[in-house]
Amino acid sequence: MTRRGTTASGRAKRLRTCVGCRRRAEPTGLIRLHRGGDGTVGFGAGPGRGAWLCGPPATGACLETAIRRRALERALRHPIPTTEIEALRARLGQ
Ligand SMILES: [Zn+2]
Repeated sequence: MTRRGTTASGRAKRLRTCVGCRRRAEPTGLIRLHRGGDGTVGFGAGPGRGAWLCGPPATGACLETAIRRRALERALRHPIPTTEIEALRARLGQ
């Protein structure tokens, strides 16, 4: 007999962690970022590795924190070009 905790029931929520402030929340309370095969980074569902930010609306402060800590490129397992960071900022209205 093995006790596996509440996750064994399948009812536990799958929490994601914001790459900026490290807040944990359900996927509905966060916005997903993904990196495309061409190196671009966009919001929303997509193939490949993803990262999560607080939102919606997306939180610019969390994006900035993630960039400063290099948490975003760690999460996406790839360097993020400055042009992509600028594009993300523009989409957040920063
Ligand atoms: Zn956050």
